[in-house]
Amino acid sequence: MADDRSTSASINVAFGTVAAGRMLIAHAVDGVFGNAEVRATGDLSLHPFAHCLHYGSTCFEGLKAHRDSDGVVRIFRIDRHVARMRRTADLVQLPVPPAELLEEMILAAVEQNLAEVPDAPGALYLRPMLLGTDPNIGAAASPSTSALLAVVASPVGDYFAGGVRPLTLLVETEVPRTTPQFGEAKAGANYLMALGITRRARAEHGCDQVLFAPGGQVQETGAANFLLFDEDRVVTRALDSTFLHGVTRDSVLTLARDRGMRVEERDISVEELLAWSGEAALAGTAAVLSGVGTLVRDGVRHTVGDGSVGPVTLALREGLTAIQRGEAEDVHGWTRPVGL
Ligand SMILES: *Cc1c(COP(=O)(O)O)cnc(C)c1O
Repeated sequence: MADDRSTSASINVAFGTVAAGRMLIAHAVDGVFGNAEVRATGDLSLHPFAHCLHYGSTCFEGLKAHRDSDGVVRIFRIDRHVARMRRTADLVQLPVPPAELLEEMILAAVEQNLAEVPDAPGALYLRPMLLGTDPNIGAAASPSTSALLAVVASPVGDYFAGGVRPLTLLVETEVPRTTPQFGEAKAGANYLMALGITRRARAEHGCDQVLFAPGGQVQETGAANFLLFDEDRVVTRALDSTFLHGVTRDSVLTLARDRGMRVEERDISVEELLAWSGEAALAGTAAVLSGVGTLVRDGVRHTVGDGSVGPVTLALREGLTAIQRGEAEDVHGWTRPVGL
């Protein structure tokens, strides 16, 4: 197996720029999905009247498959990602793919691209996507009953250029990340709404991301959940409809409990945040667990802890990646081997 895979060459490219060779495609007609087929990754064909191109009827997922040192490839928490995509499809008024179909397509996307799964710390990033395809530009007020479901894949290394380094976040209390009805949806529209403010934060303050805290209560960033740590405690916002329920967040809270840490799921005010003496981190499939070193609020820079990626963040990150890579016992049954 060692000789037929392209590995380290893929790890140093920017996240998400390399497409694996094969993709899975299925179509829904009148809300009913047909069988999936394998294709070479390439252009999709859409009618220019397609609903998704005009009225934003699209959503996606993001999950990873990891290769261990023996060459075994495992998908991380596929069931959670499948369930979340079905939830999002429902929120954006698209036909909801059956769980079995979506799961089969994700597994097949890994099997079909097995040789392109990089060695750790790289991974094969899997991107299921769903597009409303009704060819009708008069359908602004009706949902698309036809849809294209695809699973594409990309060999990736670290999400943030520079690997494990402390991040700088702008704390934003006025501009919201998205609208209340789409808080839980993994939809491109949410990213677009966060993009303008994120670009400004980057240009004006050198920030990596924006931490949204509408009404002065911490929520999440544009693409990752937010957690605070001290030696024996994790504090993060309780699940509600305003933010994306991250699989990484859930996994980190579980690992923290396993280590005997206390988990507090509750509101965090901006005042508490800026006075926090422990660590802060972002959690997401792409970011894994990334330490936050600086918070910028009203133009003032606040150092978090000593400004470096802290020991609790590193230990929990290591605990998570060890399970993903098959180096630690998977006591919670989170990983699914592929192609065995
Ligand atoms: C995908 C995403 C996350 C992270 O979710 P994971 O399941 O951990 O990858 C967090 N916030 C937003 C807005 C997201 O889109």
